[in-house]
Amino acid sequence: MRNKITSKMLVLKFPKETADQPVVVNLAKSFDLTFNILKARITPGQEGLMVMELSGTRKNFQEGVNYLKDLGVQVETIGQQVRRNDDKCYQCGSCTAFCPTGALQLSRPSMEVLFQPDKCSMCELCVPLCPPRAMEVVFNTSAVLARKRVLTTDDDKADLRPFIS
Ligand code: SF4
Ligand code: SF4
Repeated sequence: MRNKITSKMLVLKFPKETADQPVVVNLAKSFDLTFNILKARITPGQEGLMVMELSGTRKNFQEGVNYLKDLGVQVETIGQQVRRNDDKCYQCGSCTAFCPTGALQLSRPSMEVLFQPDKCSMCELCVPLCPPRAMEVVFNTSAVLARKRVLTTDDDKADLRPFIS
């Protein structure tokens, strides 16, 4: 299952420290991922924005996304997002054993299972493995983007409009 090909449309928001670095090239070289850049607004020394389709094995995809997040790049999917339905989650804790990024984690000493979307690499491993199917892939672009505050400026909104309308 780990070699299954994953392909997602992503919005990357680069902090100004990384805007002039070959981050995307490193995705291909270090993680054997293929990418198709659909839109980019990158200016050295300023925050950058890129829309791309990124593909590769599930493992490499996840490691590539983690690489981006470690650099401070905001990574959001267009059209889908993993979320937890808290009405269904009965806090069994089993997901904490297989979530590779720590997005699902036990909080001590309360032992409450926390879900931290910012740490989620969207690998979707938890979706079929959660007994009550509390982990869900949702398709709601505008809600996802608004909630995650991907669009912060009018320029961002204009750049992304072709992909979200
Ligand atoms: S496996 Fe599912 S039900 Fe169990 S704690 Fe995780 S999200 Fe909640
Ligand atoms: S999709 Fe699920 S298992 Fe994968 S990183 Fe996100 S919360 Fe963890």
